[in-house]
Amino acid sequence: MSLIVQKFGGTSVATPEKIQSAARKAIRAQQEGNQVVVVVSAMGHETDHLIDLAKQINDEPPAREMDMLLSTGEQVSVALMAMAVHRFGYRAISLTGAQMGIRTDNSFTKARIKTISTERIRKLLDAGNIVIAAGFQGVDDDFNITTLGRGGSDTTAVALAAVLGADACEIYTDVDGVYTTDPRLLPEARQMDLISYDEMLELASLGASVMHNRSIEFAKKFDVPIRVRSSFSDAPGSMIVSIPESHSVPVSGAALTREEARITVQGVPDSPGMSYEIFRRLADRKITVDMIVQNIGMEDRADISFTIPNNELKEALRAIEEGVKVTGATGYTYDDAVAKVSVVGLGMANQTGVAEKMFASLASAGINIQMITTSEIKISCLVQRSEATAALRAVHQAFSLHNKPVDANEWRIGQANAGTQSASEIVDRLSKSNLEQLTLLDISLLGDQARVTLTGVPDTPGLAEKVFREVAQAGVFVDMIIQSCDGYLGETSISFTVPEEQMSTCLDVLGKTGYNFRKIGGSTDIAKLSVSGIGLRSHTSVAIAMFKALADEGINVLMINTSELRVNVVIEGKDGQRGLAALQKTFAGALV
Ligand code: ADP
Ligand code: ASP
Ligand code: MG
Repeated sequence: MSLIVQKFGGTSVATPEKIQSAARKAIRAQQEGNQVVVVVSAMGHETDHLIDLAKQINDEPPAREMDMLLSTGEQVSVALMAMAVHRFGYRAISLTGAQMGIRTDNSFTKARIKTISTERIRKLLDAGNIVIAAGFQGVDDDFNITTLGRGGSDTTAVALAAVLGADACEIYTDVDGVYTTDPRLLPEARQMDLISYDEMLELASLGASVMHNRSIEFAKKFDVPIRVRSSFSDAPGSMIVSIPESHSVPVSGAALTREEARITVQGVPDSPGMSYEIFRRLADRKITVDMIVQNIGMEDRADISFTIPNNELKEALRAIEEGVKVTGATGYTYDDAVAKVSVVGLGMANQTGVAEKMFASLASAGINIQMITTSEIKISCLVQRSEATAALRAVHQAFSLHNKPVDANEWRIGQANAGTQSASEIVDRLSKSNLEQLTLLDISLLGDQARVTLTGVPDTPGLAEKVFREVAQAGVFVDMIIQSCDGYLGETSISFTVPEEQMSTCLDVLGKTGYNFRKIGGSTDIAKLSVSGIGLRSHTSVAIAMFKALADEGINVLMINTSELRVNVVIEGKDGQRGLAALQKTFAGALV
């Protein structure tokens, strides 16, 4: 008998009528011959209300008690949903996270799932029940209630679908599916029929709140096809599946993280281990760091800038104060009024001009780019928060995301690679003792790269565009781009990598532009180390473990970029092999 997991989000269970309508959907699925597990979120904005309530009592409530409180939201809705099913004359049993054996680690408010025992759920299903499972919660080894992080019910649903080997996982929500960007921000956003796991993972982690990013890690690891659809219509929605890179457009979606904050640690001694000392303290607090940019050092000191979620700023600054003391850095600055706009697309990995187009669109909207980081499948720019929506609109327009790509129909849902391996085979291959454990796929060394660095770049709208247009016109393939902020005297610096044999062409072109850079430098003596896997940015430990492994070898990190698929670091060429060996040793146990 086939098994289906249906998840209903907050708006889909916001009122008694909506709960009844969700219950009908579950009953219909059972009548069609499926065993049905229903995962529910707290009603409406209940989680927000509970957080408000807690803050009225204590503005920094203990995380354990927070989870005790927040889990009640889902407990209310499972009970009501089960009552609704009974009312229509069918059998249902509600279960909390603990009752269905969802074991997590003990990082309260952002716990990761370790194991799920399926026996009880299976028994209840076999006895003809619809099982109503509380989303977003679990229990640690000491029976403390934990929660998985905001939006975590999606992760509960996909995790249950994975371990139960479900035939389908349907996410019912308040929009018709996955759009090219948040349709509430841009009405011109277009709903997609299909999107790949990799793109959805990256978009979710960069602000597309329609799916919890960690649910996509599960889906990709365990090959769970997901359908995102509306609770309020019968429209088919969007499928999230595995799609080959060759069938992907350069940019398939755009996302905004409106509540971002930027921190710059100034005057960090430019020697091995310093970044590690700083980022380790953030990772210990499970703060996800993004857009890490290091100015190429002046007088043996560097400025390191990065972004974090704005609601973690207080905690992050505590970590930074310690880090500044330990490293002997000169100080730090921060900006809590910034937003991050990103574009994502699997096809951008082998296309030139994508970055330039994004910079050009922001320039013509008169928006200054404060920081830039790129990786194989995404480009992020940091802008002032007041310009966030305008920035999103500009890039959405520039890549014509409102228009369906011409070849989009060629890749049909039936061809999408869903379920090539049975879930149980995959679960067997991966660790059963830790479902959300880090999964690494490859560690590699690329030696034929060169680095180009422009120092003293005037911080004005449009400059990044001009630089990359000239470079692209000369046929140079630009890979990692990072642009820092907060430079000296209103200046920034831009570094990027190019193929070794194109470095001199690139330097020539830049020398002739007539822009007043203080310095144009380049080095072919670099090596790029890459660690690839699933969910690498949200597993904060990966970049940290890389920093540590390299620091222990006395190797200096020159550039870094991160995405959910890969963390790349650029180091000096002479250190390449030693760096590779250090990473292989560090990550030996995590490779699958
Ligand atoms: P639920 O309570 O059902 O989990 P969420 O509020 O978590 O619902 O997610 C749905 C919301 O995600 C939509 O209302 C929409 O505003 C927002 N969203 C953000 N990015 C996207 C996107 N790319 N596609 C669709 N919705 C998006
Ligand atoms: N109720 C939780 C939240 O609002 C979990 C979820 O809805 O996915 O974040
Ligand atoms: Mg959600």
